[in-house]
Amino acid sequence: MEKMIIVGSGCAGLTAAVYAARAELDPLVMIGDEPGGQLSETTTVENYPGFPDGVFGAQLMNDFQKQAERFGARTVNKQVKGSELVDGGPHKLQTEDGEEFETRSLVVATGARARWLGLDSEQALRNKGVSSCATCDGALYRDVPVAVVGGGDSAMEEALFLSRFASKVVIIHRRDKLRASPIMQERALANEKIEIQWNSIVEEVLDVEADEVNGVVVRDVNTDKKQTLAVKAFFLAIGHIPNTEPFKDYLDLDDAGYINLKDGAQSLTNVDGVFAAGDCADERYRQAVTAAGMGCRAAIDSERWLQERGM
Ligand code: NAP
Repeated sequence: MEKMIIVGSGCAGLTAAVYAARAELDPLVMIGDEPGGQLSETTTVENYPGFPDGVFGAQLMNDFQKQAERFGARTVNKQVKGSELVDGGPHKLQTEDGEEFETRSLVVATGARARWLGLDSEQALRNKGVSSCATCDGALYRDVPVAVVGGGDSAMEEALFLSRFASKVVIIHRRDKLRASPIMQERALANEKIEIQWNSIVEEVLDVEADEVNGVVVRDVNTDKKQTLAVKAFFLAIGHIPNTEPFKDYLDLDDAGYINLKDGAQSLTNVDGVFAAGDCADERYRQAVTAAGMGCRAAIDSERWLQERGM
């Protein structure tokens, strides 16, 4: 039986691990399918305090892990697929490879994953020119036009990153106003390689038969007119879905699947002894620094919970 398991290895999970390890709780961190979480898929992180020149996302997450391990946190590469959570514990976790773990306290820090449009053509061409990670795949598309769908900070960030390689980047957005923060909008709009296809919905990604991306069919929401944008790659940046499925039978979730915390100022869930931190429980801020802060709270709340019960 573990004293404390932390599920997730992004900013929230690894910060919880640093705090829990320093409190000598001997935490076990389940790294999951996406080691380092979403930051390990991004480029330079410019808004994490303490790095005036920015820091590479994957580097930052490596350092988070090293810091947690330095104080004794253990890590295992296990993807949790199911759970049995009981008020007061112990809680059971089932992993994809068929193992079961038991723990007195649990910190759920499973983050969120990219949202897809859900088009058949998009799925058929996934990893063949369709990608949800410009950082991972952008460099494959040099000197060719590419498209990004979305109007938030992610779309701006991905477009700016892609502009380093592509001959042109078209941002396809379904409205006539961007959701992105002013600074990100300014940067994208000032970039000569970036143009915006306003009021447009993606209907199809071409060309499934050729097994590669040769264009994107978009429809103008005002005129219903369709046109094909000639691009060689298509990147998704339309938000995220919280990774809370393994806990959905036990934890109180909102309509979008984010974990409802019991008290806004704490990390308590509806199950006694289960704590949540980071993007899986935060639709509002979803920042590296807020996730790290939540991870800290979850570790401290969990430590106090264990202490009060003499565990
Ligand atoms: P987001 O802010 O939720 O934006 C998602 C965008 O995708 C919106 O523009 C939305 O359109 C569009 N969209 C959603 N579903 C769609 C669909 N089915 N078809 C077409 N378009 C669709 O998500 P995000 O950009 O991933 O950002 C998430 C959070 O992370 C935000 O808080 C953001 O500030 C933060 N972030 C910050 C940075 C940075 O500061 N460097 C970088 C990345 C992310 P509508 O606008 O019409 O709803």
